[in-house]
Amino acid sequence: MRKIDAHLHVELQGLDADRLITYMDNHSIERCWLLTWEEEEAPIESLYQHISPEEVFNAHEKYPDRVIPFYAPDPKTDRLEQKIIHAKNNGMRGCGELKVTRRWEERRMESYLKVIYRHRLPLLFHMEEPRMHYVPDNPGLAEKTLNVLLNGALNGVVKNFLLRFSKKTSILKDHIEDHLTYFPGYLHDFAGLEKRLKQFPSQVFIAHGPHFWNHIASDRSEILFHDKGRIDRFGIIDRLLSRYENLYCDVSGKSGFNAMRRDPEKARLFLEKHHRKILFGTDNTSFGHEDLIRSLQLPADKLENIFYRNADRLIPA
Ligand SMILES: [Zn+2]
Repeated sequence: MRKIDAHLHVELQGLDADRLITYMDNHSIERCWLLTWEEEEAPIESLYQHISPEEVFNAHEKYPDRVIPFYAPDPKTDRLEQKIIHAKNNGMRGCGELKVTRRWEERRMESYLKVIYRHRLPLLFHMEEPRMHYVPDNPGLAEKTLNVLLNGALNGVVKNFLLRFSKKTSILKDHIEDHLTYFPGYLHDFAGLEKRLKQFPSQVFIAHGPHFWNHIASDRSEILFHDKGRIDRFGIIDRLLSRYENLYCDVSGKSGFNAMRRDPEKARLFLEKHHRKILFGTDNTSFGHEDLIRSLQLPADKLENIFYRNADRLIPA
């Protein structure tokens, strides 16, 4: 089966352009969408990793038939259109990955959308909820340990336990409170997103990220970073994908993988229902997205849409 990986990054985990192509060859991936990450003043530095457009365009120049370059300038820039025109001259086909601490309802996002719509660029973006994030103040072992425990160990279960424990016993309470910093989330306002989907009906939006995928179900855990367990009723993303022709999503990363794995029967239903709107992608992870999707036994034509045709229709070779 032909495959396009619609969510890859270069210069992440030591993956340069040549290694990227080797990876794609080994996994029989014909083409990939290669995405940047740019935020000028990321509020929590340790959560941010700059992925520059230069690396993406260099990879495209070297492998023009395999690499489809994306670039998402930080909405903060006052040179948005110049940047986009310049990037389009270098082969840019889409805008992404947009992963910035903004909300859809902001005016700035409206102006951003106007520009990328004018240039007919599909927009791929990341959604993540606001939370309190532990920011270590030195590289020592104790701080490193707290960083791991409070920022994600066991899918958020350890954080919940430690916060309750420290409040109750006062052990480390002041220390933890001093180091917890508010993380404002990435493009997480669904109501604002819905407004933009209506306002720009011909703009292609492609969503991913934990906040998007957690809403495959109507209930949300207050503790877990990636929700687990059975899906009783589908959540808001089912409604948005059904209602808005212009909304798509990719299954990449831990969040997409987890959403497909937590309840295989419901995952199969979801993929079957939205098979024209869901794109295969990995986000440089090796959880086994392909095997998982194949194990759900979808009809071949729907599988082809997810693995290849949807991405190919949005951005033809
Ligand atoms: Zn992402």
